[in-house]
Amino acid sequence: MAVKEKKKKLSHAQNRSNILFALRQVWEVSPKYFILYFLVTFIYAPIEFLTGSFLIRLIVNGVEKSTPASTIVLYICIVAAVDLLIYAFTGYYNYIIAPAEYEKIGAHIQKKLFTKASEVELACYETPEFYDNYVRAMDEALDRVMRVMNTINNLIWRVITLVCNSFLLFAIDPVLIIFGLLPLLLGIVRRWRNKLYHDHFAAQKPIDRKIRYARRVFYLADYAKEMRVGGMYACMYEEIKAAYREYVKLLKNYGVKKAIAEFIQQFGLEVITILGAMLYAVWRTLGDGSMTIGDCIVILNSIGTVSYCLANLIQNLAEFGEHSLFLNDIRYFLDYEPKMAEDPGAPEAHGGDIEFDNVCFTYTGAEQETLHNISLKIKSGEKIALVGQNGSGKTTLIKLLLRLYDPTSGSVKLDGVDAKDYKLSSYRKNYSCVFQDFHIFAMSVKENVVLRRAEEGDDELVRAALTESGADTKVNTLEGGIDSVLTREFDEDGVNLSIGEQQKISLARVFVENSPCVVLDEPSSALDPIAEHKMFENMMRAAKGRSVIFISHRLSSAVDADRIFMLEDGSIVESGTHKELMAHGGKYAEMFSLQAANYVDTEEAVV
Ligand code: ADP
Repeated sequence: MAVKEKKKKLSHAQNRSNILFALRQVWEVSPKYFILYFLVTFIYAPIEFLTGSFLIRLIVNGVEKSTPASTIVLYICIVAAVDLLIYAFTGYYNYIIAPAEYEKIGAHIQKKLFTKASEVELACYETPEFYDNYVRAMDEALDRVMRVMNTINNLIWRVITLVCNSFLLFAIDPVLIIFGLLPLLLGIVRRWRNKLYHDHFAAQKPIDRKIRYARRVFYLADYAKEMRVGGMYACMYEEIKAAYREYVKLLKNYGVKKAIAEFIQQFGLEVITILGAMLYAVWRTLGDGSMTIGDCIVILNSIGTVSYCLANLIQNLAEFGEHSLFLNDIRYFLDYEPKMAEDPGAPEAHGGDIEFDNVCFTYTGAEQETLHNISLKIKSGEKIALVGQNGSGKTTLIKLLLRLYDPTSGSVKLDGVDAKDYKLSSYRKNYSCVFQDFHIFAMSVKENVVLRRAEEGDDELVRAALTESGADTKVNTLEGGIDSVLTREFDEDGVNLSIGEQQKISLARVFVENSPCVVLDEPSSALDPIAEHKMFENMMRAAKGRSVIFISHRLSSAVDADRIFMLEDGSIVESGTHKELMAHGGKYAEMFSLQAANYVDTEEAVV
């Protein structure tokens, strides 16, 4: 899979497009949330100004110039009434409208991400850059979209506050605007400070990844057993400690620089701008008496607001760049065109003979080819066994058959048609599969068998499938029967099954569907030989008329297959019936004899 080179610096057009993308996500779901989110600020920011600097000036100047008290009281009453309305409205918005709409927006974004995750081909999961984007998109898509909204909101707030206060200061004395604009000169320091934050964040990323991995290993049940034996616990703990040491080193390194940048910025802002303007105002009021006390107080109050607004305004604009970088990753994931996209107009598959025509396959990033020139034909209804040492390519062959990957060269055909030419979902429906690394979901037994929400009429189907797979004996002992919840993930009364029992449940999945071909990748690895034998008997009986392709490390299971393909180092080295291969006296016969030595009775029975 070709991976798009990620650009570190984005153009203005890209930034704009990314920010608009974030806004669109909110607008698409809830125009109401979108409008009200900003409307509140549009109304509240001027009100805050009117109740702050403006009101102080009115009162103090009013007292100085003997304005009638009734006028001042009237003004205060009007502002209080407007304030009251605004507070009531923001309360209603923040606690009643916003939380529900926020959830809807989150669900909308998540749905897009989940849909894309289910569409991308398996190879994407093996490409670190793609996987990083995928994890990041899952982790922070909603948060990032909301941060864009928040930044715009802050921007609106600051622009309104800045304009109102600047007008007031300008009306009092235009010279004051100079003090207000001084923070702009600190732009260089601010850029340096922002770069420091960005570089620090980038340097932390790889360490973060290590820490997250180690944490996962500590808390995920999958690792619990291995973590308790051997020295893995200490080893992982060392990894985390080392990562934290790197973390602290970075903190120290960037901490000093950040402190210097903050100091220069604050000193410039506080001392030069704010104190300078205050000195000027006090001199005009107390020195030459050309300014009223009300105006002086307003200056003391407003000049800081203007300076902070300007400084933060620039900060807000810089934030867009940061948001855009993250949104770009999210969009890269969402815009990714799956190489195996569903083509709704493509023909449906309805079973038939399977053919591998000179198939070669190399995994993404792998240096060596895994499958070499595989050619085989499987007739509809045939029972096929794939055998061979670990790593010989059996599972890979199955993955190509299911179109989890496409061949690097050659083709996989169904009923004479290239698998790529069928509608993907319809093609995959031709196969019912049980994988060696199957998963049991924290849901009921029934849902674990049908692999969807259970519907009316499923019960009989599920019970029959459980009987065929041999899981019925265990499920019948459970209080809730097929409605029992598996795993204790969410339910204290959930049932934890042994691996063998779980395997039988997952095996039942192939009995509920009536797909033309059953694929079993080591479905019996956790079963004892008797259970395995019974399972195969059931499988062959139940799969009458359907093709069966199975991989089993116990060659005794292959004995009844119509044909056996033996793989070695990614090539088919032998094929034929058990009898033919034994008579041939090649690799299969050697491997079978070695295994049969452990099952003497079996050998005598079948050779
Ligand atoms: P088998 O099922 O016969 O044990 P596999 O098909 O699982 O063999 O593996 C065949 C070879 O392909 C092995 O060398 C294995 O390491 C390699 N392989 C399997 N999966 C991947 C993967 N996702 N990426 C790279 N190499 C892989």
